[in-house]
Amino acid sequence: MEEADKVCRCGQRLIRAVTEDGNLTPVNAEPNEEGRVALWQDALGAWQCRIVTQSRPRVRGERLHVSHFVTCPFADEYRKTKPKTVRRGAGPDRTYAGRASALGQEPLF
Ligand SMILES: [Zn+2]
Repeated sequence: MEEADKVCRCGQRLIRAVTEDGNLTPVNAEPNEEGRVALWQDALGAWQCRIVTQSRPRVRGERLHVSHFVTCPFADEYRKTKPKTVRRGAGPDRTYAGRASALGQEPLF
């Protein structure tokens, strides 16, 4: 599928989506109703994502996906990759577990 612009070493097709913080995050290309990451394409065709919560439920046009951090056996390597947007001081938890929980999902390991 043309929308998957990257294949991870683990063989999973990925979509790199822009988070609300402006970072790029890998999301499994396969839609998954169990996922908490809502994806949509902006007017320029770039993938955007946000976390679906009870107070911010999915809206029409959004598809649910799972963060690749949750399923990838090489997720530790992503953790070592610096995010595109670096913030000084107390920022979000950049560890794998922190990022997974920030995405609303339990880390697998
Ligand atoms: Zn992977």
